[in-house]
Amino acid sequence: MSDLIILGSGPAGLTAAIYAVRGGLKTTVVEGPTPGGQLIWTTEVENYPGFPEPIMGPELMNLFRKQVERLGAEFISGEATNVDFSKNPLKIIVNDTAYEADAAIVATGASARWLGLESEQRLRGKGISYCATCDGYFFRNKDVMVVGGGDTAIEDAVFLSNIARSVTVVHRRDELRATKILQERVFKIKKVKFLWSHVVEEIFGEKKVEGVRLLNLKNNEAQEYICDGVFIAIGYMPNTKIFKGQLELNDAEYIKVQKKTETSKEGVFVAGDVADWIYRQAVTSAGSGCQAAIDAIKYLEYLK
Ligand code: NAP
Repeated sequence: MSDLIILGSGPAGLTAAIYAVRGGLKTTVVEGPTPGGQLIWTTEVENYPGFPEPIMGPELMNLFRKQVERLGAEFISGEATNVDFSKNPLKIIVNDTAYEADAAIVATGASARWLGLESEQRLRGKGISYCATCDGYFFRNKDVMVVGGGDTAIEDAVFLSNIARSVTVVHRRDELRATKILQERVFKIKKVKFLWSHVVEEIFGEKKVEGVRLLNLKNNEAQEYICDGVFIAIGYMPNTKIFKGQLELNDAEYIKVQKKTETSKEGVFVAGDVADWIYRQAVTSAGSGCQAAIDAIKYLEYLK
């Protein structure tokens, strides 16, 4: 039995843990399937304040974790497979064991959708990226592809056009899903080209991305293109499967924030990408983790 259980160990979950422990709460962190969160897939991080030199994503998350360990939160390895938020104490099942707490912070994050190619595993962080804001800077004056036709892909293409030498958007249909205003903006940028009705068959390169093989869906012909980077922007999946029926979700299945960091269930708070489809940055997640912990501390004081 803890005062607070935090689900997730990315920047949101671990920052929440720092504040919760320092606020006097007996705090347990369930690591989740990817301890450290999405940053462990990143190479150099140079937009997290406080680090004058770039730091590797896994190293940054290791520092977060050491800070939490020194302060004294308890960690549980593994993934929550079930929760019962219908009554207090709240119940969370990890590895077939039930853990109980008076309050919880859901910081389970979101996962970028993958194309499902073998090369994505091998070249992720070596030219394949799922976050233009995070990694775009490394492609100064390089040739990049953006895969997708939604708001994220088009925002990424606009963003990258200020950095890269060329940007080619590869989209599986011949019209974009992105909002009109974004479409108007991107079509005005000469540097951004479009390959309509194309899908990525393979991304090749030994140690880093060297190019892609695309299939033209109109004539079924495959062609290779040389490029230095591939930004995959085919959507995100918030990690909310176990909260269905327990917490209110929005249409895109992100957790619905009621007020401040509150969810639809009293005593359950939310932080980070699991409720944020707009900013998705380590620093914004960390900030919301701090907010959720402060809200949880106040809630528990009120309970007593
Ligand atoms: P999205 O709207 O789901 O778009 C995903 C895009 O990727 C679609 O164009 C889709 O093609 C394509 N796609 C999906 N699976 C694919 C696959 N396996 N292979 C190739 N292409 C694939 O995702 P999103 O752009 O990340 O946006 C998610 C949500 O966040 C949306 O509600 C969006 O409006 C919102 N958002 C808003 C802003 C903003 O307001 N500034 C910015 C970013 C995101 P099809 O079009 O053929 O389905």
